[in-house]
Amino acid sequence: MEISGKNAVVVGLGKTGASTAVFLKKRGAHVTVSDSSKDKNLDDAAKKLQAAGINVELGTHSSSSFLNADLVVLSPGVPHTLELVIRAKELGAIVTGEVELASSFIKEPIVAVTGTNGKTTTTTLIGYMLEESGLKVFVGGNIGKPLIDYVESESRAEVVVVEISSFQLDTIKRFRPRVGVLLNITEDHLDRYPGFDAYMKSKARIFENQKGNDVSIFNASDHYVLQVSGNIKCGKLPFFKDSGSPGYEEYAMISEDRIIFNLNKTYRFLGNEATDKTPDTGTSFSLRFSETHLPGIHNMENIAAATLAAFAAGGNTIGIRHALRKFKGLPHRIELVAEINEVKYYDDSKATTVDSVIKALEVFRKPVILIMGGRNKGINFNLLKDAVSEHVKKLILLGEAKEEIKSAIGDIVEAVYAGTMEDAVDLAHDAAAAGDIVLLSPACTSFDMFTSYAHRGEIFCKAVEELKRNR
Ligand code: ADP
Repeated sequence: MEISGKNAVVVGLGKTGASTAVFLKKRGAHVTVSDSSKDKNLDDAAKKLQAAGINVELGTHSSSSFLNADLVVLSPGVPHTLELVIRAKELGAIVTGEVELASSFIKEPIVAVTGTNGKTTTTTLIGYMLEESGLKVFVGGNIGKPLIDYVESESRAEVVVVEISSFQLDTIKRFRPRVGVLLNITEDHLDRYPGFDAYMKSKARIFENQKGNDVSIFNASDHYVLQVSGNIKCGKLPFFKDSGSPGYEEYAMISEDRIIFNLNKTYRFLGNEATDKTPDTGTSFSLRFSETHLPGIHNMENIAAATLAAFAAGGNTIGIRHALRKFKGLPHRIELVAEINEVKYYDDSKATTVDSVIKALEVFRKPVILIMGGRNKGINFNLLKDAVSEHVKKLILLGEAKEEIKSAIGDIVEAVYAGTMEDAVDLAHDAAAAGDIVLLSPACTSFDMFTSYAHRGEIFCKAVEELKRNR
């Protein structure tokens, strides 16, 4: 893509937006970064960019920047349906995302992971598995480092592993991962898509440009994933729950206590350097659930997907096993915070979808006191009915969506309101008996009360620690 001399607008001043702006500036574009937020925390980043000769507009998107643009680059969380983005496109601007832009400069094989839930966990695991197999890896995208930072960095990896959101997939054109992973598709972001069908199609675009020896890894037990997998034009490595083999030659099958891999190296990156460095042992092997610290069947799906991806990209079974034993899971995803009077407190602040809350509830056999609520992003809370009636003893509701949640599921179990996270933790403690579980798994975004899911999780952890000190 020709960049020099172009008028470029980068939408969103996060880490990715800032890196993209610098990248474009270095290549001779006239760059404006536009962010509708007035958040004071952006001021430092804005000053740095301005010092580098980049124009920054905060608090509003000015139409003059967009309407004069030749190129508009969207940051990961920015939908391509913003009115000014659409108008810029109508006037002839190229609208693209950072992933499309960065990947067009990357020659190394890319492993890309998408899905409604489990992206960060799976992407991180793939990175560890490849590293433990002796490969040099870059891990980034929607997590950690922006992909564009890899393009700019001096050091070269053998494999690039990226997490990709549906917004990032909305703007791809030629993006072609060597390995594409689609974990699951459930209701999410329906406030930002015209409907579920559009969201589903967006996720399926991970496979759009794959062909020949490329590898698609997908969840064949997921009804919606299966629907879109019909269009795949490259090698298929599905994973599924034990329900009879759906007729694939190579696969990962999740059985009662282990994941069974049936692989014959057809889809490994044969002949490339990565494979030569990791001479492998067998091609059919199994991983016992007890070899991992991660809880729940949903995590076995993540592990199945990660292992298939790592294997395809040249990882070996020894490295994969090491990584699995070492990986303790990520913060704010069903993370044990403390045990107080025989009650365990778990932080699952990252759970912003119905499905992730259901998956968290399914992990526990003991009665759960569930803290949920926040800002609804278009979720139908009725979908929680079965899981709540099966697992939950009491609901403690927070934030903007608390009334909506109460009217959807408040007739199943007792539901009370809390004003703050500290109140919520106190109320949970009062309601808990020995052996119970207190779980923060909000099914909502955090932006009504907190700056991020991580901030919400940290406040929860602090409140639990405070409780522990005082009891
Ligand atoms: P993402 O990056 O897609 O948001 P994370 O790995 O950060 O995924 O996990 C987000 C939430 O989803 C956490 O609450 C986690 O426990 C839950 N989760 C993780 N993997 C899955 C899965 N495969 N299916 C459903 N929920 C999952």
